[in-house]
Amino acid sequence: MPISEFDLIRQYFAHATAARADVLLGIGDDCALLRPPAGSCLAVSVDTLVEGRHFLSQVDPESLGHKALAVNLSDLAAMGADPAWATLAITLAEVDTGWLRAFVDGFAALAAAHGVQLVGGDTTRGPLSITVQVHGFVDPGKALRRAGGRPGDRLFVSGCVGDAGLALQQAGEGAPVDRYLQQRLDRPTPRVALGRMLAGRANAAIDVSDGLVADLGHICAASVTGARIELDRLPLSPPLAAECARGNWRHALAGGDDYELLFSVDPLQAEALAADCRAAGEPVQEIGCLVDDSGIALVYPDGRVSKEIPDGFDHFRD
Ligand code: ADP
Ligand code: MG
Repeated sequence: MPISEFDLIRQYFAHATAARADVLLGIGDDCALLRPPAGSCLAVSVDTLVEGRHFLSQVDPESLGHKALAVNLSDLAAMGADPAWATLAITLAEVDTGWLRAFVDGFAALAAAHGVQLVGGDTTRGPLSITVQVHGFVDPGKALRRAGGRPGDRLFVSGCVGDAGLALQQAGEGAPVDRYLQQRLDRPTPRVALGRMLAGRANAAIDVSDGLVADLGHICAASVTGARIELDRLPLSPPLAAECARGNWRHALAGGDDYELLFSVDPLQAEALAADCRAAGEPVQEIGCLVDDSGIALVYPDGRVSKEIPDGFDHFRD
């Protein structure tokens, strides 16, 4: 009997990722059987990528496999959790084995790098869409919540901000996209090790997926604080620095898809934590503070202060 295409797909996924001792039963039965470690709580997050909305049809499938997992690992990082398991629901318009092989390779390489095992999923036919759920472990007393920020906390961000947003703009204009920027859009680096270092030490954290100011707004709303960002301290790659020098701060402040960590730290702990992060090779930059006020004040390099915020990406805005 010829093998069905769905069996074929399952074969692609079955042996793709890390093999973990806490997986009693993985792909192949009605459910996976998983054993979380005693004393930890499970951190669970899910994200969907839809063709035409979150990625373009001509995107490299290997990068897409990477990104589908990376955006989820970024959520675990923002919680301070240690990644363990993933499930994958994939809807495909057609079975293109070359495309699938590349997709699985991108997914599996990142999974292996973080010790993540794919333990199940679902495969259906329809317009291309990819949903990944991840499961990680975190000590409930150390999990990084959005609501833990306090006025006076110092505010830090990892990596650089605005790169993915500028790549999207260049692509939208039909211009050739800068190679570095394209990489930042297609292959984000989930800051898992940094998130683990921050667990129990930062007061609040979020990953920057909707734009720096929009995501800072989520911390402020949950923590009931305001914030102040000093724009001359923003970590910017050379192409972003050139945009900002021209007065275009939109990508740095409101560009989405960077998947960097934004976190607040008690002022007495901030120096030591930042030094530990840098010693571990994690790039972090102080950009401002939380304040006992409402709203987010942007301090421009010329000293001008504005609360006018460029919009972040909103999935429901057209
Ligand atoms: P059921 O009808 O019981 O849901 P399926 O035929 O959907 O079973 O799946 C059979 C097995 O293959 C299950 O263990 C499921 O988790 C796994 N599986 C199906 N699709 C995927 C996928 N895209 N990635 C990983 N595992 C998958
Ligand atoms: Mg199923």
